[in-house]
Amino acid sequence: MRDLSRGDRGKEVLDVQTRLHSQGFELGREGVDGFFGPHTELAVLSFQQQRGLLADARVGANTWRELVESGYALGDRLLYLREPPFRGDDVLSLQVKLNLLGFNAGPERGVYDEEVERAALDFQQNAGLHADGIVGESTLKKLEAVRKAESGREGKKIPDRDGGYVPARSLAGNSVTIDPGHGGTDLGVTSAGGLAEKDVTLALGLRTAELLRAEGCRVRLTREGDDRVPVYARAEAANGAATDFLLSLHCNADASPAARGGTAYYFQRSHYYSEHGRRLACSIGSRMEAAGFPWIGRFGRNYALLREARGIVLMVEPLFLTNPDDEDLAQQPGCMEKLARALVGGLADYLARIPPYRDDAP
Ligand SMILES: [Zn+2]
Repeated sequence: MRDLSRGDRGKEVLDVQTRLHSQGFELGREGVDGFFGPHTELAVLSFQQQRGLLADARVGANTWRELVESGYALGDRLLYLREPPFRGDDVLSLQVKLNLLGFNAGPERGVYDEEVERAALDFQQNAGLHADGIVGESTLKKLEAVRKAESGREGKKIPDRDGGYVPARSLAGNSVTIDPGHGGTDLGVTSAGGLAEKDVTLALGLRTAELLRAEGCRVRLTREGDDRVPVYARAEAANGAATDFLLSLHCNADASPAARGGTAYYFQRSHYYSEHGRRLACSIGSRMEAAGFPWIGRFGRNYALLREARGIVLMVEPLFLTNPDDEDLAQQPGCMEKLARALVGGLADYLARIPPYRDDAP
């Protein structure tokens, strides 16, 4: 699907509006009319803000996926383990319910994976139901019947079940997947002088991988050439390799050429966030600043890759390709070296500081 934004018209806009409307977003007097006007723009913006997406009022692949997934309520469809897995708010709310009851349904990402199935089977067995891992009416009824009050849960930090455990406290022995963003026909952001994000992320990714290998890490790249790799394939590459860390590399862009500064994004969806993703973001940010790169900060986001990949996942955008200084910098020979060293140094600092074993207690 092409990106939709203000001024667009057609069946796809109609579809977006229908979904927004059914989820209670205000579309003004025009309503569902197939025209992407100011009210639709506002509705997309509030939807993006509410869901932790990049709020740019455009419906691109990520926002579209989120619109589809957020349309499902628990009970709308049967849930079970399949390939590709069920994704959506119904799975998320199933995980929340199971986790509240003490069945470990894994990090609340809204993906029906093996961990959710195991928890569902566990629950069915305990509840005296036929244990088949298929969540339908009878399982939901039982869940509702034994559900504890959810009050007091809002705003609490949920333990980071997938984080905090790493095989080694030093770089050696850890497995790291490096994900250079974009590639092939997907250029990513392009600078005023024609520098493409996909080339910057590849150069940085390859150098980072070399440095990590030299430190004794097991390293895998989601691409080593100019290839187009879909986002789910990137997550699967990391999951298949049972990776401890996934570093996804991108560049930032803004309508204003003055915007500058590095950012890192970790997974966050409503009250659930990745504590270790956040810690890693801090360590890398400090190293970037120490290396002389301006740093804006770290943010929790519900991006598809952050949600889908297991282990400790971080998306880093060290440069703004729309900023002339950063554009210059990106083409200087030493720049990728400095950035790669900051990434590796940040990872080493994180590993040196983490508490001994799956211990999130302050
Ligand atoms: Zn990008």
